[in-house]
Amino acid sequence: MNPWVALGQLASLVWLAYVVDASVRLWRTGSASQRRQSIMVGGSIILFILCAAALPGLVAAGMLEFPMNSSMAFIGMILVMNYELGGDVLNAAQLSQSLKTSEQRLALSTEAAQLGAWEWNINARTLWISAKGRELYGFPASGEIDLEHFLACLDPHDLEQVTLSLNAAVSGSGKFSKEYRIVLPDGSVRWVSTTGKVEKNVREGTALMHGVSRDISQRKLSLSQTEIQRQELAHLSRVSLLGELAGTLAHELNQPLTAILSNSQTGRRGIKVGKSTPAELADILDDIAADAKRAGGIIHGMRAMLKKDSSVDVIPLDPNEIVKQVLVLLHSEIIFRKLDVVLQLDGSLPLVMAGRVEVQQVLINLVINALDAISQKSGKATLRIATGYLEDRVTISVYDSGPGIPPEIVSRLFDPFFSTKQGGLGLGLAISRSIMSNFGGELLADNNPDGGAVFQMRLLTASPPK
Ligand code: ADP
Repeated sequence: MNPWVALGQLASLVWLAYVVDASVRLWRTGSASQRRQSIMVGGSIILFILCAAALPGLVAAGMLEFPMNSSMAFIGMILVMNYELGGDVLNAAQLSQSLKTSEQRLALSTEAAQLGAWEWNINARTLWISAKGRELYGFPASGEIDLEHFLACLDPHDLEQVTLSLNAAVSGSGKFSKEYRIVLPDGSVRWVSTTGKVEKNVREGTALMHGVSRDISQRKLSLSQTEIQRQELAHLSRVSLLGELAGTLAHELNQPLTAILSNSQTGRRGIKVGKSTPAELADILDDIAADAKRAGGIIHGMRAMLKKDSSVDVIPLDPNEIVKQVLVLLHSEIIFRKLDVVLQLDGSLPLVMAGRVEVQQVLINLVINALDAISQKSGKATLRIATGYLEDRVTISVYDSGPGIPPEIVSRLFDPFFSTKQGGLGLGLAISRSIMSNFGGELLADNNPDGGAVFQMRLLTASPPK
């Protein structure tokens, strides 16, 4: 035998030692499946070395009589390794199948909920977006989408707000939730509601925002239709209020007109008999002008209330002025009912932010309700209107000496069409409350401990109190 064969056999020995060591290590540190692999793969290689190196050595040394056939042992090893790798491939196939199934499930549920799912890679500014999401935003069905595509499809009115919210979510809160408009490629506008959450991985240095978007155009449309209907109802109730006030208004107009007539007749007579001095005539003319102004003011107020202008001018208003203007409108009604009117107006109040006609409408409603309540109870009839300041709001409170609000109707007072009056529409308080909330204010009702009811308007201020 060639002496170099010993070197080959030594190499096989080193190889054997290496494989035994690797298999033992894997057995000690590995998981259950790796232990199995250490036995199967390690064992088969060890067997192969023994068969392919030791056996021929023994045969060559004349110690054993056996056919020289190492390739058979090699096939055994290949079979074992093949089996092991085949198992891994099968596992991978099963995993990818279950991944596919859960992806399909996710796609189906987002599709059913009409949700467009997306993931924004904040650092790379790239965007992954589901097929439904692409359809929602009017993006092409394939191709890369980045943040610029998203910002470009936003309605210019909402662009700033959305960018601010996105920045706030990325730099702090981690959450994004917004309703905004997008402009589709055909120019139409769609309302979208989106929520998202930032996920930062400091170790990998990645920041992602995951989220979903939903088409809410239909809801916005019905909301705006409801708003139009609400405005029309508010207008109708105002017109019916004016109908109720017609007698009062006619009387209010009659008074300055009568005064104008009698003043002009006096002046004429004075001129005729030549007794009036120029100073007296000037006084008479001043009176006439003042009465004409008052009549003009009443007509102006009526016209403003009748106007069907849905856009409300929210302007700074003096709350005490509003009270005085309403009392002018209701002047003869109050005289007719022989009411004691007590005014407690706080002169240091800030201006309030509201629509003039609308606030007047609410106050007229409250005063007319108070007058109705007062007429239900005999005894001293008192109406008290007080203005004040409470919890950052200006308050206008209407106190009456009526029977108060029965406890069983307290929770229904503001319900539309709730009325305890014969022929009552039951819309006054419902509309008054919605008008108040339109200006960020409130309308509250309570019973006065001293008797009667109190209704309080709370209005946003235009500036802090003086
Ligand atoms: P309407 O005046 O047509 O009944 P409102 O919405 O103005 O409709 O009022 C609803 C109900 O609230 C009234 O029918 C009445 O029962 C009650 N209410 C309103 N104001 C007062 C008040 N000042 N005192 C007692 N009850 C009141």
